[in-house]
Amino acid sequence: MKNELTLDNFWMPFTANRQFKAAPRLLASAEGMYYTDVDGNRVLDGTAGLWCCNAGHGRKKISEAVGRQLSTMDFAPTFQMGHPIAFDFAAKLAKIAPGGPSAELDRVFFTGSGSESVDTALKIAIAYQRAIGQGTRTRIIGREKGYHGVGFGGISVGGLVNNRRVFPQIPADHMRHTLDLNRNAFSKGLPEHGVELADDLERLVQLHGAETIAAVIVEPMSGSAGVILPPKGYLEKLRATADKHGILLIFDEVITGFGRLGTPFAADYFGVVPDLVTTAKGLTNGTIPMGAVFARRKVYDGLMIGPENAIELFHGYTYSGHPVACAAGIATLDIYEEEGLLTRAAALADYWQDALHSLSGHPHVVDIRNLGLVGAVEVAPRDGAPGTRAYDVFVECFKKGLLIRVTGDIIALSPPLIVEKSEIDRIVSTIGDALKR
Ligand code: PMP
Repeated sequence: MKNELTLDNFWMPFTANRQFKAAPRLLASAEGMYYTDVDGNRVLDGTAGLWCCNAGHGRKKISEAVGRQLSTMDFAPTFQMGHPIAFDFAAKLAKIAPGGPSAELDRVFFTGSGSESVDTALKIAIAYQRAIGQGTRTRIIGREKGYHGVGFGGISVGGLVNNRRVFPQIPADHMRHTLDLNRNAFSKGLPEHGVELADDLERLVQLHGAETIAAVIVEPMSGSAGVILPPKGYLEKLRATADKHGILLIFDEVITGFGRLGTPFAADYFGVVPDLVTTAKGLTNGTIPMGAVFARRKVYDGLMIGPENAIELFHGYTYSGHPVACAAGIATLDIYEEEGLLTRAAALADYWQDALHSLSGHPHVVDIRNLGLVGAVEVAPRDGAPGTRAYDVFVECFKKGLLIRVTGDIIALSPPLIVEKSEIDRIVSTIGDALKR
């Protein structure tokens, strides 16, 4: 029988990429800093896939480790069972855990994705409060424009309208503080002003009562909302307010984890120690889907020590600690270490900053933001229609062999951490040319 499935009549359900149908872009292979599309065009990757391929593409060390693990043991349950490779990976992660050894953030729980990591962290936070006799603390405070994946937990604490629009019932027991972080207005790196935005947490605690709040979750640097940077002192202030009221602080480091800012984690960059850290993406260099939650020992001990607590939080996924994903993760961490990638963004950050800000004179550019190897170029919409001009730039860049990501009016950039200066130049000049056109 003839295969009827063609691009004209078959669409992946629920794809977020509605524009794809108008102009399909099919990527066929990837190596280093480049994709190659089905027509053989090379496309420079300005987005590390989707913020995840930090060590670049096609890393043989990872594929070989995955192949070996697949042929040795393809799956093993982690319910009432274990396998050494998951412990090896957890131990390796513990060594680079956010905040360094004194933070004691070295208890690791494996998940299958960023969204699962978020769900897990939220559940751990509430369960921990309950375990220490704070059972009325069931609310989580999230942030305006926060993005925490698309699981039910993530959208209930997330602040991006698009993800919540058709779920009006969801926020019932959660609140978002109105932290709509200010634009930087071309400031380089962290904004100097706006730390008082963190006062909103205190206001909400007063409004709802500390005894109802388990945790506050934030991305240390908002990624999906369009690279919105915290003002200097902002995260420190959140930490202080959370401490004052017995509220846990969760950093969602699905994007910032594994070297994006020039330190292993954003917690290291900001010098602020959260209680839980969610990760995914760079954990396995975007290869085998996997996430991990780091928990502080005090949280872990509160949960796991004692006869009932651990049993009450019945939580775990079929694919938690999947051996093949662990193999990919171990190989990924080896590459990060061998090539110094967890700190490489720091060495390139100034160059990246100057290159990006050279676009400030271009027509339609209304703001530029940068931190580590993350960048955002915000453009004015065409004819007042949101997202239009940024999408034009995306199309033009792709034609010229550069992959960028657009979210609304924002061009978001996050090249693999192996990027060279010449490639940074090319990213910036291609965007500049597209803007002129
Ligand atoms: N949290 C943050 C901060 C993210 O950026 C993302 C994904 N971009 C997620 C959670 C969800 O991760 P996943 O898509 O792997 O579920």
